[in-house]
Amino acid sequence: MSNHNLFCDFEASFRAAGDRTAIASADGNQRLSYHDLLSGAARYANALAALGVQPGDRVTVQIEKSIANVLLYLGVMKAGGVYQPLNTAYTESEVDYFIGDAEPKLIVCDPARQQSMRKLADRHKIFAVVNLDARGEGSLSAMAAQMDDRHDTADCGSDDLAGLLYTSGTTGRSKGAMITHGNLRSNAATLVRLWRITNADRLLHALPIFHVHGLYVALNTAFLAAAELVWFNQLDVPVLIKAMPQATLMMGVPTFYTRLLAAREFTAETARNMRLFISGSAPLLAETHRDFEARTGHAILERYGMTETGMITSNPYDGARVPGTVGFALPDVSVRIRGNGPDVIEVRGPNVFKGYWRMPDKTKEEFTDDGYFITGDIGTIDAEGRISIVGRAKDLIITGGFNVYPKEIEDVLDAFPEIGESAVIGIPHPDFGEGVVAVVTARAPLPPERELIACLSEKLAKFKVPKRIITVDELPRNAMGKVQKAELRKRHANLFQKSD
Ligand code: AMP
Repeated sequence: MSNHNLFCDFEASFRAAGDRTAIASADGNQRLSYHDLLSGAARYANALAALGVQPGDRVTVQIEKSIANVLLYLGVMKAGGVYQPLNTAYTESEVDYFIGDAEPKLIVCDPARQQSMRKLADRHKIFAVVNLDARGEGSLSAMAAQMDDRHDTADCGSDDLAGLLYTSGTTGRSKGAMITHGNLRSNAATLVRLWRITNADRLLHALPIFHVHGLYVALNTAFLAAAELVWFNQLDVPVLIKAMPQATLMMGVPTFYTRLLAAREFTAETARNMRLFISGSAPLLAETHRDFEARTGHAILERYGMTETGMITSNPYDGARVPGTVGFALPDVSVRIRGNGPDVIEVRGPNVFKGYWRMPDKTKEEFTDDGYFITGDIGTIDAEGRISIVGRAKDLIITGGFNVYPKEIEDVLDAFPEIGESAVIGIPHPDFGEGVVAVVTARAPLPPERELIACLSEKLAKFKVPKRIITVDELPRNAMGKVQKAELRKRHANLFQKSD
Protein backbone atom coordinates (compact mmCIF):
# COMPACT_ATOMS: atom_id res chain seq x y z
CA MET A 1 0.00 0.00 0.00
CA SER A 2 1.36 3.40 -0.85
CA ASN A 3 1.73 6.18 1.69
CA HIS A 4 -0.83 8.99 1.27
CA ASN A 5 0.92 11.40 3.64
CA LEU A 6 1.04 14.71 1.72
CA PHE A 7 4.64 15.06 2.85
CA CYS A 8 5.57 12.30 0.36
CA ASP A 9 4.50 14.62 -2.48
CA PHE A 10 6.47 17.49 -0.95
CA GLU A 11 9.48 15.24 -0.51
CA ALA A 12 9.56 14.30 -4.18
CA SER A 13 9.42 17.96 -5.17
CA PHE A 14 12.01 19.01 -2.53
CA ARG A 15 14.48 16.34 -3.68
CA ALA A 16 14.20 17.44 -7.29
CA ALA A 17 14.73 21.09 -6.27
CA GLY A 18 17.84 20.28 -4.18
CA ASP A 19 19.90 23.36 -3.40
CA ARG A 20 17.55 25.87 -4.99
CA THR A 21 16.13 28.45 -2.60
CA ALA A 22 12.92 27.39 -0.87
CA ILE A 23 12.47 30.34 1.50
CA ALA A 24 14.34 33.61 1.72
CA SER A 25 13.33 36.26 4.22
CA ALA A 26 12.54 39.60 2.60
CA ASP A 27 15.08 41.33 4.88
CA GLY A 28 17.78 39.07 3.41
CA ASN A 29 18.78 37.61 6.80
CA GLN A 30 17.68 34.03 6.33
CA ARG A 31 17.65 31.56 3.46
CA LEU A 32 16.76 27.88 3.33
CA SER A 33 17.24 25.66 0.32
CA TYR A 34 14.83 22.85 -0.50
CA HIS A 35 17.49 20.47 0.77
CA ASP A 36 17.45 22.39 4.09
CA LEU A 37 13.66 22.03 4.25
CA LEU A 38 13.99 18.27 3.90
CA SER A 39 16.57 17.90 6.64
CA GLY A 40 14.84 20.50 8.85
CA ALA A 41 11.48 18.74 8.55
CA ALA A 42 13.16 15.43 9.48
CA ARG A 43 14.84 16.99 12.54
CA TYR A 44 11.58 18.51 13.73
CA ALA A 45 9.72 15.24 13.11
CA ASN A 46 12.32 13.39 15.20
CA ALA A 47 12.04 16.02 17.97
CA LEU A 48 8.25 15.66 17.97
CA ALA A 49 8.54 11.87 18.19
CA ALA A 50 10.97 12.26 21.09
CA LEU A 51 8.35 14.46 22.81
CA GLY A 52 5.83 11.65 22.46
CA VAL A 53 3.94 12.71 19.34
CA GLN A 54 2.61 9.73 17.41
CA PRO A 55 0.57 9.57 14.21
CA GLY A 56 -2.90 11.01 14.82
CA ASP A 57 -1.80 13.13 17.82
CA ARG A 58 -2.69 16.81 17.75
CA VAL A 59 0.05 19.40 18.06
CA THR A 60 -1.24 22.82 19.14
CA VAL A 61 0.83 25.71 17.85
CA GLN A 62 0.42 29.31 18.98
CA ILE A 63 3.55 31.18 17.93
CA GLU A 64 4.64 34.22 15.93
CA LYS A 65 5.10 33.62 12.22
CA SER A 66 8.66 32.53 11.38
CA ILE A 67 10.60 30.36 8.97
CA ALA A 68 11.13 27.88 11.84
CA ASN A 69 7.34 27.67 12.06
CA VAL A 70 7.37 26.29 8.51
CA LEU A 71 9.80 23.55 9.56
CA LEU A 72 7.49 22.74 12.47
CA TYR A 73 4.49 22.55 10.13
CA LEU A 74 6.37 20.17 7.84
CA GLY A 75 7.72 18.18 10.79
CA VAL A 76 4.24 17.60 12.21
CA MET A 77 3.03 16.40 8.81
CA LYS A 78 6.05 14.13 8.33
CA ALA A 79 5.49 12.60 11.78
CA GLY A 80 1.83 11.95 10.93
CA GLY A 81 0.62 14.45 13.53
CA VAL A 82 -2.39 16.73 13.27
CA TYR A 83 -1.37 20.38 13.03
CA GLN A 84 -3.55 22.73 15.07
CA PRO A 85 -2.50 26.34 14.52
CA LEU A 86 -3.96 29.10 16.68
CA ASN A 87 -4.18 32.81 16.03
CA THR A 88 -1.59 34.56 18.19
CA ALA A 89 -4.29 37.05 19.21
CA TYR A 90 -6.24 34.40 21.15
CA THR A 91 -6.31 35.05 24.88
CA GLU A 92 -5.58 32.53 27.59
CA SER A 93 -9.23 31.66 28.15
CA GLU A 94 -9.76 31.11 24.42
CA VAL A 95 -6.66 28.91 24.26
CA ASP A 96 -7.98 27.03 27.27
CA TYR A 97 -11.05 26.08 25.23
CA PHE A 98 -9.05 25.02 22.15
CA ILE A 99 -6.70 22.85 24.18
CA GLY A 100 -9.51 21.29 26.16
CA ASP A 101 -11.32 20.49 22.94
CA ALA A 102 -8.39 19.27 20.84
CA GLU A 103 -6.53 17.39 23.59
CA PRO A 104 -3.12 17.77 21.97
CA LYS A 105 -0.09 15.66 22.87
CA LEU A 106 2.15 18.69 22.55
CA ILE A 107 1.81 22.48 22.75
CA VAL A 108 4.24 24.84 21.03
CA CYS A 109 4.03 28.42 22.27
CA ASP A 110 6.01 31.64 22.31
CA PRO A 111 8.76 31.63 24.97
CA ALA A 112 7.02 34.60 26.61
CA ARG A 113 3.95 32.46 27.17
CA GLN A 114 5.72 29.33 28.40
CA GLN A 115 4.64 29.70 32.02
CA SER A 116 1.00 30.53 31.48
CA MET A 117 0.76 27.78 28.85
CA ARG A 118 2.35 25.30 31.26
CA LYS A 119 -0.44 26.05 33.73
CA LEU A 120 -3.12 25.50 31.10
CA ALA A 121 -1.39 22.30 30.01
CA ASP A 122 -1.34 21.02 33.61
CA ARG A 123 -5.04 21.62 33.92
CA HIS A 124 -5.65 19.52 30.82
CA LYS A 125 -3.01 16.92 31.74
CA ILE A 126 -0.87 17.66 28.72
CA PHE A 127 2.69 16.65 29.35
CA ALA A 128 4.79 18.52 26.82
CA VAL A 129 5.01 22.31 26.28
CA VAL A 130 7.91 23.66 24.22
CA ASN A 131 8.58 27.06 22.68
CA LEU A 132 9.73 28.83 19.55
CA ASP A 133 10.03 32.56 18.86
CA ALA A 134 9.82 34.71 15.73
CA ARG A 135 13.57 34.39 15.15
CA GLY A 136 13.28 30.61 15.29
CA GLU A 137 14.84 30.34 18.74
CA GLY A 138 13.41 28.36 21.63
CA SER A 139 13.44 25.00 23.36
CA LEU A 140 11.95 23.22 20.34
CA SER A 141 14.45 24.46 17.75
CA ALA A 142 17.29 23.75 20.21
CA MET A 143 16.04 20.20 20.53
CA ALA A 144 15.50 19.78 16.77
CA ALA A 145 19.08 20.90 16.12
CA GLN A 146 20.33 17.86 18.07
CA MET A 147 18.24 15.39 16.09
CA ASP A 148 19.10 13.13 13.18
CA ASP A 149 18.26 14.61 9.77
CA ARG A 150 16.72 11.38 8.54
CA HIS A 151 13.20 10.31 9.43
CA ASP A 152 10.81 7.83 7.84
CA THR A 153 7.67 9.72 6.87
CA ALA A 154 4.72 8.33 8.85
CA ASP A 155 2.28 6.17 6.91
CA CYS A 156 -1.05 7.95 6.41
CA GLY A 157 -4.22 7.22 4.50
CA SER A 158 -5.87 9.90 2.37
CA ASP A 159 -8.63 10.16 4.93
CA ASP A 160 -6.31 10.64 7.92
CA LEU A 161 -6.17 14.06 9.54
CA ALA A 162 -3.39 16.48 8.66
CA GLY A 163 -4.91 19.56 10.30
CA LEU A 164 -7.44 20.68 12.87
CA LEU A 165 -8.33 24.28 12.09
CA TYR A 166 -10.78 26.11 14.29
CA THR A 167 -13.27 28.25 12.41
CA SER A 168 -12.98 31.95 13.11
CA GLY A 169 -16.17 31.68 15.14
CA THR A 170 -17.55 35.15 14.51
CA THR A 171 -20.77 33.71 15.91
CA GLY A 172 -21.16 30.88 18.39
CA ARG A 173 -18.47 28.55 19.55
CA SER A 174 -15.47 27.94 17.34
CA LYS A 175 -15.51 24.46 15.79
CA GLY A 176 -12.51 22.33 14.84
CA ALA A 177 -12.56 21.52 11.12
CA MET A 178 -10.90 18.15 10.45
CA ILE A 179 -8.76 18.48 7.31
CA THR A 180 -7.33 15.34 5.72
CA HIS A 181 -4.22 14.67 3.66
CA GLY A 182 -6.55 13.93 0.74
CA ASN A 183 -8.30 17.32 1.12
CA LEU A 184 -5.01 19.17 1.05
CA ARG A 185 -3.50 17.16 -1.80
CA SER A 186 -6.43 17.62 -4.17
CA ASN A 187 -6.83 21.33 -3.49
CA ALA A 188 -3.13 22.17 -3.78
CA ALA A 189 -2.68 20.14 -6.98
CA THR A 190 -5.72 21.82 -8.55
CA LEU A 191 -4.52 25.31 -7.67
CA VAL A 192 -0.98 24.68 -8.93
CA ARG A 193 -2.44 23.73 -12.31
CA LEU A 194 -5.04 26.48 -12.43
CA TRP A 195 -2.72 29.29 -11.38
CA ARG A 196 0.23 27.79 -13.35
CA ILE A 197 2.58 27.81 -10.38
CA THR A 198 6.07 26.51 -11.28
CA ASN A 199 9.58 26.44 -9.88
CA ALA A 200 10.22 29.69 -11.76
CA ASP A 201 7.81 31.50 -9.41
CA ARG A 202 8.79 33.68 -6.48
CA LEU A 203 5.82 34.02 -4.15
CA LEU A 204 5.49 37.01 -1.80
CA HIS A 205 4.32 35.49 1.48
CA ALA A 206 3.08 38.09 3.97
CA LEU A 207 -0.05 36.27 5.24
CA PRO A 208 -0.32 34.71 8.69
CA ILE A 209 0.17 30.93 8.73
CA PHE A 210 -2.42 30.08 11.39
CA HIS A 211 -5.15 30.29 8.71
CA VAL A 212 -5.89 28.26 5.54
CA HIS A 213 -4.93 31.08 3.21
CA GLY A 214 -1.29 31.55 4.25
CA LEU A 215 -0.84 27.96 5.45
CA TYR A 216 -2.51 25.69 2.94
CA VAL A 217 -3.17 27.79 -0.14
CA ALA A 218 0.21 29.52 -0.18
CA LEU A 219 2.61 26.99 1.38
CA ASN A 220 1.20 23.78 -0.07
CA THR A 221 1.07 25.10 -3.63
CA ALA A 222 4.58 26.56 -3.38
CA PHE A 223 5.91 23.27 -1.99
CA LEU A 224 4.25 21.09 -4.63
CA ALA A 225 5.66 23.28 -7.37
CA ALA A 226 9.02 23.91 -5.63
CA ALA A 227 8.52 27.64 -6.05
CA GLU A 228 10.51 30.14 -3.97
CA LEU A 229 8.92 31.88 -1.00
CA VAL A 230 9.83 35.49 -0.27
CA TRP A 231 9.13 35.56 3.44
CA PHE A 232 7.63 38.28 5.64
CA ASN A 233 7.01 37.56 9.33
CA GLN A 234 4.31 40.21 9.02
CA LEU A 235 2.97 42.56 6.39
CA ASP A 236 5.34 45.48 5.92
CA VAL A 237 4.18 47.52 2.92
CA PRO A 238 7.44 49.42 2.20
CA VAL A 239 9.44 46.15 2.32
CA LEU A 240 6.80 44.41 0.20
CA ILE A 241 7.16 47.14 -2.41
CA LYS A 242 10.93 46.79 -2.31
CA ALA A 243 10.79 43.01 -2.77
CA MET A 244 8.12 42.98 -5.47
CA PRO A 245 10.30 43.74 -8.53
CA GLN A 246 12.06 40.38 -8.00
CA ALA A 247 8.82 38.45 -7.42
CA THR A 248 6.25 36.89 -9.74
CA LEU A 249 3.28 35.98 -7.56
CA MET A 250 1.39 37.30 -4.54
CA MET A 251 -1.45 35.95 -2.43
CA GLY A 252 -3.13 38.48 -0.21
CA VAL A 253 -6.29 39.55 1.57
CA PRO A 254 -8.11 42.63 0.20
CA THR A 255 -6.49 44.95 2.75
CA PHE A 256 -3.06 44.13 1.25
CA TYR A 257 -4.28 45.58 -2.03
CA THR A 258 -5.85 48.70 -0.54
CA ARG A 259 -2.68 49.31 1.46
CA LEU A 260 -0.49 48.90 -1.62
CA LEU A 261 -2.71 51.34 -3.50
CA ALA A 262 -2.41 53.83 -0.65
CA ALA A 263 1.38 53.91 -1.18
CA ARG A 264 2.40 56.40 -3.85
CA GLU A 265 5.65 54.61 -4.57
CA PHE A 266 3.70 51.51 -5.64
CA THR A 267 3.57 51.70 -9.45
CA ALA A 268 3.36 49.57 -12.58
CA GLU A 269 7.16 49.52 -12.46
CA THR A 270 7.06 47.87 -9.00
CA ALA A 271 4.93 45.09 -10.44
CA ARG A 272 6.89 44.71 -13.69
CA ASN A 273 7.95 41.12 -13.02
CA MET A 274 4.69 40.04 -11.44
CA ARG A 275 2.70 37.34 -13.18
CA LEU A 276 -0.30 37.08 -10.88
CA PHE A 277 -1.96 38.78 -7.90
CA ILE A 278 -4.49 36.64 -6.01
CA SER A 279 -7.01 37.85 -3.44
CA GLY A 280 -9.31 36.04 -1.05
CA SER A 281 -10.60 35.48 2.52
CA ALA A 282 -12.85 38.54 2.34
CA PRO A 283 -14.64 40.36 -0.47
CA LEU A 284 -12.46 42.48 -2.74
CA LEU A 285 -14.24 45.72 -3.61
CA ALA A 286 -14.86 46.08 -7.35
CA GLU A 287 -13.38 49.54 -6.95
CA THR A 288 -10.11 48.14 -5.54
CA HIS A 289 -9.96 45.71 -8.46
CA ARG A 290 -10.37 48.57 -10.96
CA ASP A 291 -7.96 50.94 -9.20
CA PHE A 292 -5.35 48.19 -9.04
CA GLU A 293 -5.68 47.43 -12.73
CA ALA A 294 -5.49 51.12 -13.59
CA ARG A 295 -2.30 51.49 -11.50
CA THR A 296 -0.46 48.31 -12.48
CA GLY A 297 -2.15 46.80 -15.52
CA HIS A 298 -2.86 43.65 -13.46
CA ALA A 299 -6.39 42.29 -12.98
CA ILE A 300 -6.38 40.77 -9.48
CA LEU A 301 -7.56 37.16 -9.53
CA GLU A 302 -10.19 36.76 -6.82
CA ARG A 303 -10.96 33.33 -5.41
CA TYR A 304 -13.27 32.06 -2.70
CA GLY A 305 -12.87 29.41 -0.06
CA MET A 306 -13.24 28.62 3.59
CA THR A 307 -11.57 26.65 6.38
CA GLU A 308 -13.90 23.67 6.00
CA THR A 309 -13.51 23.35 2.24
CA GLY A 310 -10.22 24.89 1.21
CA MET A 311 -10.65 26.70 -2.08
CA ILE A 312 -13.99 26.39 -3.85
CA THR A 313 -13.93 28.83 -6.79
CA SER A 314 -11.45 30.93 -8.72
CA ASN A 315 -11.57 33.53 -11.42
CA PRO A 316 -9.88 32.18 -14.56
CA TYR A 317 -6.17 32.45 -15.29
CA ASP A 318 -6.95 33.11 -18.93
CA GLY A 319 -10.14 34.97 -19.63
CA ALA A 320 -12.01 37.72 -17.84
CA ARG A 321 -11.48 38.22 -14.12
CA VAL A 322 -14.70 40.01 -13.34
CA PRO A 323 -14.61 42.47 -10.42
CA GLY A 324 -17.09 41.60 -7.69
CA THR A 325 -17.28 37.90 -8.64
CA VAL A 326 -15.33 34.94 -7.30
CA GLY A 327 -15.21 33.08 -10.62
CA PHE A 328 -16.01 29.47 -11.42
CA ALA A 329 -16.13 26.27 -9.35
CA LEU A 330 -12.69 24.59 -9.33
CA PRO A 331 -12.44 21.73 -11.85
CA ASP A 332 -12.98 18.91 -9.34
CA VAL A 333 -15.43 20.79 -7.11
CA SER A 334 -19.20 20.85 -7.48
CA VAL A 335 -20.99 24.05 -6.41
CA ARG A 336 -24.73 24.65 -6.42
CA ILE A 337 -27.41 26.94 -5.10
CA ARG A 338 -30.98 25.69 -4.87
CA GLY A 339 -33.13 28.76 -5.45
CA ASN A 340 -33.52 30.99 -8.47
CA GLY A 341 -32.35 34.15 -6.77
CA PRO A 342 -29.55 34.47 -4.24
CA ASP A 343 -29.35 31.38 -2.02
CA VAL A 344 -26.97 29.41 0.16
CA ILE A 345 -23.91 28.03 -1.63
CA GLU A 346 -23.44 24.26 -1.25
CA VAL A 347 -20.27 22.44 -2.16
CA ARG A 348 -19.08 18.87 -2.65
CA GLY A 349 -15.70 17.52 -3.70
CA PRO A 350 -12.41 16.04 -2.54
CA ASN A 351 -11.57 19.40 -0.93
CA VAL A 352 -14.45 19.25 1.57
CA PHE A 353 -13.40 18.48 5.15
CA LYS A 354 -14.21 15.34 7.09
CA GLY A 355 -16.41 17.03 9.69
CA TYR A 356 -16.24 18.99 12.92
CA TRP A 357 -14.00 17.53 15.61
CA ARG A 358 -16.08 15.59 18.13
CA MET A 359 -19.32 17.22 16.93
CA PRO A 360 -21.08 14.54 14.86
CA ASP A 361 -24.49 16.21 15.22
CA LYS A 362 -23.22 19.62 14.16
CA THR A 363 -21.44 17.96 11.22
CA LYS A 364 -24.65 16.25 10.14
CA GLU A 365 -26.57 19.53 10.29
CA GLU A 366 -24.11 21.22 7.97
CA PHE A 367 -24.32 18.62 5.19
CA THR A 368 -27.22 17.88 2.87
CA ASP A 369 -28.46 14.30 2.45
CA ASP A 370 -26.58 14.02 -0.84
CA GLY A 371 -23.28 15.05 0.72
CA TYR A 372 -23.01 18.77 -0.03
CA PHE A 373 -21.52 21.02 2.65
CA ILE A 374 -23.76 24.00 3.41
CA THR A 375 -21.34 26.93 3.41
CA GLY A 376 -23.61 29.57 4.93
CA ASP A 377 -22.53 32.01 2.22
CA ILE A 378 -25.28 33.37 0.01
CA GLY A 379 -24.48 33.63 -3.66
CA THR A 380 -25.67 33.69 -7.21
CA ILE A 381 -24.52 31.65 -10.22
CA ASP A 382 -24.99 33.13 -13.70
CA ALA A 383 -25.71 31.21 -16.91
CA GLU A 384 -21.97 30.80 -17.58
CA GLY A 385 -21.34 29.40 -14.11
CA ARG A 386 -19.76 32.52 -12.66
CA ILE A 387 -20.35 32.82 -8.93
CA SER A 388 -20.87 35.98 -6.86
CA ILE A 389 -21.13 36.15 -3.09
CA VAL A 390 -23.97 38.28 -1.80
CA GLY A 391 -23.40 37.81 1.92
CA ARG A 392 -23.53 35.34 4.78
CA ALA A 393 -26.82 33.66 5.65
CA LYS A 394 -26.45 34.94 9.19
CA ASP A 395 -25.94 38.49 7.90
CA LEU A 396 -29.19 38.45 5.93
CA ILE A 397 -31.45 41.23 7.20
CA ILE A 398 -35.18 40.72 7.48
CA THR A 399 -36.95 44.04 7.82
CA GLY A 400 -40.73 44.30 7.88
CA GLY A 401 -40.82 40.80 6.35
CA PHE A 402 -38.53 41.69 3.42
CA ASN A 403 -35.14 40.08 2.83
CA VAL A 404 -32.27 42.49 2.41
CA TYR A 405 -28.86 41.33 1.22
CA PRO A 406 -26.27 43.66 2.74
CA LYS A 407 -23.92 43.41 -0.24
CA GLU A 408 -26.41 45.05 -2.59
CA ILE A 409 -26.59 48.12 -0.38
CA GLU A 410 -22.86 48.09 0.33
CA ASP A 411 -22.20 48.16 -3.43
CA VAL A 412 -24.38 51.24 -3.81
CA LEU A 413 -22.69 52.96 -0.87
CA ASP A 414 -19.19 52.07 -2.05
CA ALA A 415 -19.90 53.77 -5.36
CA PHE A 416 -20.09 57.17 -3.60
CA PRO A 417 -16.73 58.86 -4.12
CA GLU A 418 -16.75 60.18 -0.54
CA ILE A 419 -17.26 56.73 1.00
CA GLY A 420 -14.27 54.51 1.68
CA GLU A 421 -15.86 51.29 2.89
CA SER A 422 -19.23 50.22 4.18
CA ALA A 423 -20.85 47.47 6.21
CA VAL A 424 -24.61 47.04 6.28
CA ILE A 425 -26.18 45.29 9.27
CA GLY A 426 -29.58 44.61 10.80
CA ILE A 427 -30.31 46.06 14.24
CA PRO A 428 -33.36 45.11 16.35
CA HIS A 429 -36.15 47.55 15.56
CA PRO A 430 -39.47 47.89 17.44
CA ASP A 431 -41.59 48.18 14.28
CA PHE A 432 -39.68 46.32 11.59
CA GLY A 433 -38.06 43.47 13.51
CA GLU A 434 -34.73 44.57 12.14
CA GLY A 435 -33.79 47.99 10.83
CA VAL A 436 -31.18 48.38 8.09
CA VAL A 437 -28.13 50.31 9.29
CA ALA A 438 -25.03 51.27 7.31
CA VAL A 439 -21.68 51.86 8.95
CA VAL A 440 -19.27 53.67 6.64
CA THR A 441 -15.81 55.20 6.57
CA ALA A 442 -15.25 58.53 4.82
CA ARG A 443 -12.47 59.23 2.35
CA ALA A 444 -13.67 62.81 1.85
CA PRO A 445 -16.15 64.98 3.79
CA LEU A 446 -19.53 63.25 3.62
CA PRO A 447 -22.87 64.97 2.96
CA PRO A 448 -25.16 65.03 6.01
CA GLU A 449 -26.77 61.69 6.89
CA ARG A 450 -30.22 62.84 5.76
CA GLU A 451 -28.96 63.80 2.32
CA LEU A 452 -27.16 60.50 1.92
CA ILE A 453 -30.29 58.60 2.86
CA ALA A 454 -32.28 60.69 0.35
CA CYS A 455 -29.73 59.84 -2.35
CA LEU A 456 -30.03 56.13 -1.60
CA SER A 457 -33.82 56.34 -1.75
CA GLU A 458 -33.48 57.17 -5.44
CA LYS A 459 -31.46 54.04 -6.09
CA LEU A 460 -32.97 51.41 -3.80
CA ALA A 461 -36.40 50.07 -2.93
CA LYS A 462 -37.70 51.80 0.18
CA PHE A 463 -37.34 48.78 2.47
CA LYS A 464 -33.65 48.46 1.57
CA VAL A 465 -32.70 52.04 2.36
CA PRO A 466 -30.71 52.28 5.61
CA LYS A 467 -32.58 54.02 8.38
CA ARG A 468 -29.30 55.25 9.78
CA ILE A 469 -25.87 55.79 8.25
CA ILE A 470 -23.14 55.91 10.87
CA THR A 471 -19.67 57.20 10.05
CA VAL A 472 -16.66 55.63 11.79
CA ASP A 473 -12.89 55.98 11.42
CA GLU A 474 -12.36 52.31 10.72
CA LEU A 475 -14.45 49.15 10.39
CA PRO A 476 -13.57 46.40 12.90
CA ARG A 477 -11.73 43.57 11.12
CA ASN A 478 -10.18 40.28 12.18
CA ALA A 479 -6.67 39.14 11.26
CA MET A 480 -7.81 37.96 7.83
CA GLY A 481 -9.33 41.32 6.98
CA LYS A 482 -12.93 40.20 7.45
CA VAL A 483 -15.28 42.90 8.69
CA GLN A 484 -16.68 41.77 12.02
CA LYS A 485 -20.37 42.40 11.60
CA ALA A 486 -21.22 40.66 14.86
CA GLU A 487 -19.09 43.25 16.63
CA LEU A 488 -20.86 46.09 14.76
CA ARG A 489 -24.26 44.65 15.65
CA LYS A 490 -23.19 44.55 19.29
CA ARG A 491 -21.93 48.14 19.26
CA HIS A 492 -25.11 49.52 17.78
CA ALA A 493 -27.59 47.10 19.38
CA ASN A 494 -29.63 49.83 21.05
CA LEU A 495 -29.85 52.23 18.13
CA PHE A 496 -33.59 51.86 17.65
CA GLN A 497 -34.64 51.36 21.23
CA LYS A 498 -37.45 53.64 22.24
CA SER A 499 -36.20 56.14 24.80
CA ASP A 500 -39.14 56.34 27.11
P1 AMP B 1 -12.47 31.28 6.77
O1 AMP B 1 -13.02 29.96 7.15
O2 AMP B 1 -11.91 32.06 7.93
O3 AMP B 1 -11.50 31.17 5.65
O4 AMP B 1 -13.68 32.17 6.25
C1 AMP B 1 -14.40 31.73 5.14
C2 AMP B 1 -15.38 32.78 4.74
O5 AMP B 1 -14.70 33.92 4.21
C3 AMP B 1 -16.27 32.33 3.62
O6 AMP B 1 -17.32 31.52 4.09
C4 AMP B 1 -16.73 33.66 3.03
O7 AMP B 1 -17.79 34.18 3.81
C5 AMP B 1 -15.51 34.54 3.21
N1 AMP B 1 -14.74 34.65 1.97
C6 AMP B 1 -13.64 33.99 1.59
N2 AMP B 1 -13.22 34.38 0.37
C7 AMP B 1 -14.09 35.32 -0.04
C8 AMP B 1 -14.23 36.12 -1.21
N3 AMP B 1 -13.36 36.06 -2.20
N4 AMP B 1 -15.28 36.97 -1.28
C9 AMP B 1 -16.18 37.06 -0.28
N5 AMP B 1 -16.09 36.34 0.85
C10 AMP B 1 -15.07 35.48 0.98
